[in-house]
Amino acid sequence: MGAKHCAPTFPQNATMKQFATVIIFTLLSIGAVVAQDNANILSAPPTPNRTIEGNGFEVDLYFGSLKQGRVGLIGLRGDIVRAQATVFNRRVDFFSVPDRDGYYALIAARTDQPIRVYELIVAVELSNNTTANLSIGIDITNGGFISSEVTLPPDDELLALLDPQIEEDELAFLFETTTPITEVVLWGREGFIAPVNAALTSPFGAVRTFNETYLSVHTGWDFQAGIGRPMVAAAGGRIVFEGQLPLRGNYILIDHGRGVYSGYAHLSVSYVTQGQAVTTGQVLGLVGTTGRSSGAHSHIEFIVNNEWVDAADFIQMYIP
Ligand SMILES: [Zn+2]
Repeated sequence: MGAKHCAPTFPQNATMKQFATVIIFTLLSIGAVVAQDNANILSAPPTPNRTIEGNGFEVDLYFGSLKQGRVGLIGLRGDIVRAQATVFNRRVDFFSVPDRDGYYALIAARTDQPIRVYELIVAVELSNNTTANLSIGIDITNGGFISSEVTLPPDDELLALLDPQIEEDELAFLFETTTPITEVVLWGREGFIAPVNAALTSPFGAVRTFNETYLSVHTGWDFQAGIGRPMVAAAGGRIVFEGQLPLRGNYILIDHGRGVYSGYAHLSVSYVTQGQAVTTGQVLGLVGTTGRSSGAHSHIEFIVNNEWVDAADFIQMYIP
């Protein structure tokens, strides 16, 4: 389609030089149009699974039922000034993105969210100064998390980390660090990318028994990657933690805005510092085996609205 629009008309008595210039110009124009078309295709929202209309606005749900540990995208259309979603006893503000139509919100189901139907209330303030809301049923289904056994090598330092209090403290620290909601979207138009190009090994949500005694829920995905492989930022954001944690080892935590955070664990080397702004694909550090780890791998985790969510699923989602 691009080629048709930018095909120039050749002058009747064009010299070879003019002719060549026109051809080069044509090729450049086609290239530019194709690149732009690709960008538009990549960033186009998918067809909503459900649209609920009424009370002067429309709600688009980009999910059918929602599995435990997964994120659901909600879109709004109408003359909306401000909007809020309430679900799972939590209020989430909708955000608008420059160059995008409408308002969006991300909701996150806990990995242990009881399986049933929940009420989602979308409350909006319309441009004519009236308020309205819609109530929608959200079906939470089984996350299908596996159970797995992990055997740590007989290393006293590692075995000392099988203390429930250490895990409790670390999770409490991460919960607190990821509680602030940065009001602006810091991720880019390209959404989120895989931080390391490697095979997924241990899945999110797995209930793991360490050395036949200690139970722990896996908060992220493990990727099979050797020491020294670069680990990149899944999207733009700001480093809110860079340092040592007992279980996660050398750890980096990025705030992407709007309640979305990503964490990178067990690094051998870190190249970033707390407070630093990062862009999508920027190298954060190198894969290692620090913390509670039985060998070189990368552990990548996502938090949305203070809940651990399936990182692999989130990276594949359309995020406006
Ligand atoms: Zn892991």
